[in-house]
Amino acid sequence: MKVLNNGFVELVEYMGQDQAVIRNARRCWRSEAKSEDSDRKLLRHLITAGHKTPFEAMVFTFDVKAPLFVARQWFRHRIGSYNEESLRYCVALRDYYIPENLEGELREAWIAQNESAFDFYEQLVTEHRLPKEQARSVLPVGIYTTFYWTVNGSSLMNFLQLRLDRAAQKEIRVYAQAVLELVKEVAPISFGIFEREVLKLSE
Ligand SMILES: Cc1cc2nc3c(=O)[nH]c(=O)nc-3n(C[C@H](O)[C@H](O)[C@H](O)COP(=O)(O)OP(=O)(O)OC[C@H]3O[C@@H](n4cnc5c(N)ncnc54)[C@H](O)[C@@H]3O)c2cc1C
Repeated sequence: MKVLNNGFVELVEYMGQDQAVIRNARRCWRSEAKSEDSDRKLLRHLITAGHKTPFEAMVFTFDVKAPLFVARQWFRHRIGSYNEESLRYCVALRDYYIPENLEGELREAWIAQNESAFDFYEQLVTEHRLPKEQARSVLPVGIYTTFYWTVNGSSLMNFLQLRLDRAAQKEIRVYAQAVLELVKEVAPISFGIFEREVLKLSE
């Protein structure tokens, strides 16, 4: 799913769906999956009562490309696992965030500033043979990075609640919205109820 000018979020792998949550939760009552209606009521109860551990039975791995400043906010979510490309080992790609609300001369100046930073960076790396880990200091925080994020359903709900809130920065909100759309395809009952009951984005 495309996000911002050059970013994306892709759900690359997952384990467990709504039925895994229902199975784990029903262990508490020594019962098994029942009618669709009864299972739906159970999921609603779990979400509204904050009985969240059954949602840990769902695990998702996302491939994300986002500006560094978005990644920095994202990585504050400790309950999850990350692997990010390293600018110690890889040469930075000339790829940076351009806000869509920038127009005319301001947009041109924004691009010129970023291009100039990359010109200097490449000069440092190729001509002056400076280590990449030092040369990267001259790059702006809007350059794109990529990382894999593995997270369970419960921690993901915490992320979505915090990062879809109007208090969160717009640039991370659009990523959180993309993540929500992707997981709704995989676990539609859980994340549908979560969206209506907790996020209250629809209905
Ligand atoms: C709008 C907004 C503005 C923010 N501004 C700032 C800012 O200016 N500066 C800044 O530093 N951060 C800021 N943050 C980051 C914020 O403080 C959290 O670090 C971030 O949202 C991750 O939330 P979390 O701890 O719930 O998630 P996770 O780290 O994924 O943790 C999930 C849950 O596990 C539990 N947990 C995890 N680790 C611990 C622990 N060590 N001790 C106790 N319980 C734990 C908590 O219940 C926590 O809610 C901001 C976040 C938001 C959404």
